[in-house]
Amino acid sequence: MDRARQIRQRLQQVRERIARWEAAYGRRAGSVRLLAVSKTFPPADVLAAAATGQVAFGESYVQEAVAKMAGIELALEWHFIGPLQSNKTRLVATHFGWVQSIDRFRIARRLNDQRPPDAPPLAVCLQVNVSGEPQKAGVPPAELPALAEAVAGLPRLRLRGLMAIPARQPDFDAQRRAFARLRDLFEALKARGHALDTLSMGMTADLEAAIAEGATLVRVGTGIFGARPPRRG
Ligand SMILES: *Cc1c(COP(=O)(O)O)cnc(C)c1O
Repeated sequence: MDRARQIRQRLQQVRERIARWEAAYGRRAGSVRLLAVSKTFPPADVLAAAATGQVAFGESYVQEAVAKMAGIELALEWHFIGPLQSNKTRLVATHFGWVQSIDRFRIARRLNDQRPPDAPPLAVCLQVNVSGEPQKAGVPPAELPALAEAVAGLPRLRLRGLMAIPARQPDFDAQRRAFARLRDLFEALKARGHALDTLSMGMTADLEAAIAEGATLVRVGTGIFGARPPRRG
């Protein structure tokens, strides 16, 4: 089958999956946004998805993403969702509208300082290490309130919510428990006065459990674009 057509069909299936689970869990129709994770896939694939009305795209590798954007003229909403090193913050602050993977103040401050003055504030989510895995990215839950406070004080960033990538769990209830932890942290920050609207959790394999626990944004790559080629380095 034609590649663009295949992407359109898969997108349709993912949207139906989201709608089904919104209904099943009493979520308002349309309350869960879809981020199409296009990392490792070419501009033509992004254009095929955009042709169906898909607006938000997620990327994890800075150079690859910036090169891809250069080949796309549409005004799309680009989310950076990968690990971010300080030598790449300027490119991210310049080319993206969102960064979901902030887990250190140092990186947030650089993005704030490097956000171009004519661009709107950069929308950001804090990435939380909800599963407590030692090698994993994300701020430990105990340090989240202090980081949120500090990031909320940066004028060129706008703190929108939280993101997590819990440890892989085959079991639906275990998936739900990990997402429930992130939702509890999200509610606790809102109770402290942070005006948050984005709970970014759930990927191809576990988006149902994330929707059940209140996700407002699910990040889907494989489910739309198919298996990713293995990456070097
Ligand atoms: C790659 C990636 C995704 C998409 O994962 P799939 O399993 O392909 O849906 C979602 N979130 C983050 C942070 C990613 O890096």
